[in-house]
Amino acid sequence: MSTQANRYTLDNLKFDNRFVRELPADAETDNYRRQVYQACYSRVIPTQVAEPTLVAYSPDMAAQLDLSADVCQSIAFSQIFVGNSLAEGMDPYACCYGGHQFGHWAGQLGDGRVINLGEAVTRQGEYLTLQLKGAGLTPYSRSADGLAVLRSSIREFLCSEAMYYLGVPTTRALSVILTGKQVRRDMFYDGNPQWEQGAVVCRVAPSFTRFGSFQIFTSRDDLGTLKKLVDYTIAHDFPHLGSPTPAIYLQWFTEVCEKTADMIIHWQRVGFVHGVMNTDNMSILGLTIDYGPYGWLENYDPDWTPNTTDAQGRRYRYGNQPQIAYWNLVQLANAIYPLIKRAEPLQQAVSHYFSRFEKGWQTMQAVKLGLETFNPDSDESLLTDLFKLLQIAEVDMTLFYRGLANLNVNSTLSEFYLFIEQVSYKALDHESTILAEAWFNDYLQRLRKNTINDQDRITQMQSVNPCYVLRNYLAQEAIDQAEQGDFALVEELLDVLRQPYTEQPGKSRFTAKRPDWAKQRAGCSMLSCSS
Ligand code: AMP
Ligand code: MG
Repeated sequence: MSTQANRYTLDNLKFDNRFVRELPADAETDNYRRQVYQACYSRVIPTQVAEPTLVAYSPDMAAQLDLSADVCQSIAFSQIFVGNSLAEGMDPYACCYGGHQFGHWAGQLGDGRVINLGEAVTRQGEYLTLQLKGAGLTPYSRSADGLAVLRSSIREFLCSEAMYYLGVPTTRALSVILTGKQVRRDMFYDGNPQWEQGAVVCRVAPSFTRFGSFQIFTSRDDLGTLKKLVDYTIAHDFPHLGSPTPAIYLQWFTEVCEKTADMIIHWQRVGFVHGVMNTDNMSILGLTIDYGPYGWLENYDPDWTPNTTDAQGRRYRYGNQPQIAYWNLVQLANAIYPLIKRAEPLQQAVSHYFSRFEKGWQTMQAVKLGLETFNPDSDESLLTDLFKLLQIAEVDMTLFYRGLANLNVNSTLSEFYLFIEQVSYKALDHESTILAEAWFNDYLQRLRKNTINDQDRITQMQSVNPCYVLRNYLAQEAIDQAEQGDFALVEELLDVLRQPYTEQPGKSRFTAKRPDWAKQRAGCSMLSCSS
């Protein structure tokens, strides 16, 4: 099927493609792997596939784009969002960017398997870039195939929507569509490649610009293109800052530091571990971006990372995410330094990241524990002792915080022991019992000083402590069924995760602790970058 010959219209979807109109394009239009210079993007047409099959779409994301259920279930929709045809107004391109991977400069990376379709303008006037992940080779594909498999596409689709409903800044997903093509993947890089079903996710965000989008130009001493991209980003994504000057660049960077701090606070709040916080995976808007080998904390363990590729250094473990975000911001500061030429204010801005993070993190922890405010005198040790207890007693993070609201100043120590036993992965041993007793007594004492009433405390706690998160094993169950052609669990999970803070009748199975089978199962606790 020819892309140009089949221009379906999605009547309500209007495009205004500012990125391609205002930024420098790669002069080469043939699609082959190469280094691309002095350009922010290359025009490229998605690869045709034989047999698109809709797996799922997000009704809320569709509604925001003014796409009805009928449209989303139409053939035209699957053809467009698998990459077989272009809707009126689309002008597809892949972006050039670089990045530091695992602490080392990696040179040009770019959209190796992502093709942007264009910028949709919603009824409210919001600009949303739509992009296909897994739609074939681009000039940035390096040695890889430009494709994505069903398991990782479902993981990205479900998790980005789940994060959105949890109130975590994130890119979103409109759809996931099977291509009908088989894709070969060596999931654990151990010489055992398997054929898997290929799929394409349509991702949605106001901007997909990354820290690495700026780094690439500075690394090549191409300050002209760097300035164009910075000015463009300020004009369209930070318009309140006004016309660019060196002072505005600093303000902009300070705001990026703030947005990044806020995003990380949310990750820590819900127990999300990104898994690959390379600078090409850091959004300039402070959105969670590029869902690969991410995972959710089950038993609270700050050293945990789901990413087997990072198992040695554990650079991207849960407890290290705040430091890594800082490290990444320093790389971004280095990248924009030539436009500002003053190191000290840039350093101040990155230190501001830490103060904002620290303060926000403390407030967030207080809210999670049902305290009216964070009191450094008592609450610092309350938190340290809690984290020790959660780790040593192998307590499920999500269940603990959610269930804690049910205890109050009149609760007894034996009630607390019982609660801990219900939400942990091992029986209370001597050490955990001692820690539990000490912490519970301190917590009760602290609660007695609380000025908020009990009902408000519960409401406060339940507005930040979800009962439903995309538990690693739940995503895997949905994937196992989808690989057999049954998409019901994907749909049900998406539906449950739309209201993560509200207990829903008949859905308690989605709050269950990780079952034993999932402890060592690939895809549940161990993931690689192979996707
Ligand atoms: P990630 O680890 O997903 O952030 O990817 C790092 C870089 O590798 C990015 O430039 C991706 O576009 C590229 N990449 C990852 N997987 C593929 C693939 N299957 N085909 C082409 N490029 C890929
Ligand atoms: Mg990436």
